[in-house]
Amino acid sequence: MLLRHTPNTVIERSALTINPAKTCQPVGAMYAALGIHRCLPHSHGSQGCCAYHRSALTRHYAEPIMASTSSFTEGASVFGGQANLLESITNIFTLYNPDIIAVNTTCLSETIGDDLAQIIHRAMADRKIPPGKTVMYASTPSFKGSHVTGYANMLTALVQQFAVHTGKRNNAITLLPSFIEPSDMAEIKRIAEAMGVQYIMYPDTSGVVNGPMDGTFHMYPRGGTGKERIAESGDSRYALALGRTGALAAAQRLDAKCKVKTDVLELPIGISATDAFVDTLRRTAGVTVPDSLITERGQLVDVLCDKNQYIYGKKVSLTGDPDILIGLTQFCKDAGMEILHVLTGTPAGSKFTKRIQEIAGPATMVKEGPQADLFYFHQVLQNRKPDLILGNTYCKYLARDMDIPFLRTGFPIYDRVGHSYFPITGYRGGLHLLVKILDLFMDRQDRDAPEERFELVL
Ligand code: SF4
Repeated sequence: MLLRHTPNTVIERSALTINPAKTCQPVGAMYAALGIHRCLPHSHGSQGCCAYHRSALTRHYAEPIMASTSSFTEGASVFGGQANLLESITNIFTLYNPDIIAVNTTCLSETIGDDLAQIIHRAMADRKIPPGKTVMYASTPSFKGSHVTGYANMLTALVQQFAVHTGKRNNAITLLPSFIEPSDMAEIKRIAEAMGVQYIMYPDTSGVVNGPMDGTFHMYPRGGTGKERIAESGDSRYALALGRTGALAAAQRLDAKCKVKTDVLELPIGISATDAFVDTLRRTAGVTVPDSLITERGQLVDVLCDKNQYIYGKKVSLTGDPDILIGLTQFCKDAGMEILHVLTGTPAGSKFTKRIQEIAGPATMVKEGPQADLFYFHQVLQNRKPDLILGNTYCKYLARDMDIPFLRTGFPIYDRVGHSYFPITGYRGGLHLLVKILDLFMDRQDRDAPEERFELVL
């Protein structure tokens, strides 16, 4: 009801953010750390920050997310959190015994200016870090960027901490995915395995945040990439960042540190991006594309052709994270849809805007950064109403207010399940995505059909 007061006159703002289309950096940093085997994310800030980060991930994945905190109180807020972190390191290794503690900073510790490198050196000098264990950190000040920035910062820190070039190249291709679902990480691995490609992928949250219920609590689930594998990525002969905003910086670090030849591709969402991914693997690994993948591709094309009349020409507006948005925009465009708006709260830069307009055309409104919020999204939706919204759970209010079909994509999704089990990447994920979009349009057609045109067969 409150949304009815959103005016449709758009006034460009330079400072204020209303209903942000993003969440905070440490959430992404924690998610990346969870994709490393026996790694415990640690939030260097107040308990409230950590509670928020954990609850955002717990609600999205419907799994208990493990993370610890430096538990800042008034004293640490004024004098710095060194004592808190040193005590945390002792307690964590004593009580929870991880192999790695991945520390992320918060607004508070960044404002104070805590020197994490110095504190970790102090912990080493004081023998607080047991032999064979690691404490590492990523700087994740949440007064800028978003959860995608935090993810990218932690992924880059993982490369910096663990990747080593021994002087001898191995045969592996390193895959560095952007912030995507565990189901999508599993799908990317499945494609690489189907092609017989030797790969190292990190982070890998499949089997960690979407693991099975087996009646036993696992502080550290079986999934996640081991630190030995990350070390070996320094010897890999080629590295592929999948998504510019979330993974390019890590690939560049791998190149700078270990001289691994790197490239960046868009996330393999939809036919053309998946074709590019499969073809890059084929060329770089010197393998052939198996019949199974060709069949999956053909099935996606088949459904796209069979049901094109329900999707062609439909207007769509999208909001979410930049790397996923590029993939979804390409997917919708390939399906013959008209892209009205693309909006992300993550500062993604002019390359993002240019790329979206290349795919969708100059008439598409693209906005990125802090003022690209859900208030603004609602305003532009009122001026050009789409037939479909793609976005995270928070868009449900807009969709309900304006009676627009709505597909939950991206992060966070708090009110539906399935996203962590069923991918949107690869040909199989594309088919899943297409079916969900078709269901929305067909359900709407059934709902609105007059009695005499309510058909059994669509
Ligand atoms: S935005 Fe800053 S203060 Fe708020 S939860 Fe995130 S790190 Fe903590």
